[in-house]
Amino acid sequence: MSTTDNCIFCKIVAGEIPSKKVYEDDDFLAFHDIAPKADTHLLVIPKRHIVNLNDLNEDDAELMGKMMLVIPKIAEQEGLVGYRTITNTGKEGGQEVFHMHFHILAGSRLPGF
Ligand code: AMP
Repeated sequence: MSTTDNCIFCKIVAGEIPSKKVYEDDDFLAFHDIAPKADTHLLVIPKRHIVNLNDLNEDDAELMGKMMLVIPKIAEQEGLVGYRTITNTGKEGGQEVFHMHFHILAGSRLPGF
């Protein structure tokens, strides 16, 4: 499991790895997924290194509430009428990057679910 030191998304937050940024505020960053699985494929991350949902505690409730509000804001900014959000938790849940992120997927190629 990644730590802050070798975390690719922490490096994106720090500007050490480039990203196609679409949104940034004090707490969150959103950028295009490097290997898009849909016409639009964005990732929304907290700037703070949180591994995944299992890493949360009561103190994170406000931050996570803000994250739920920032996602539709980004979707509106990007002109997305409808979209799918996914967060994978743990290797067995399909998580490959161990810094929490919500995928925003939209467009004509969304498979049935
Ligand atoms: P997950 O499987 O939920 O952990 O998703 C990780 C996502 O991060 C995948 O969709 C990758 O394509 C994406 N990804 C990995 N490295 C980068 C990067 N440097 N910039 C943007 N997206 C990335």
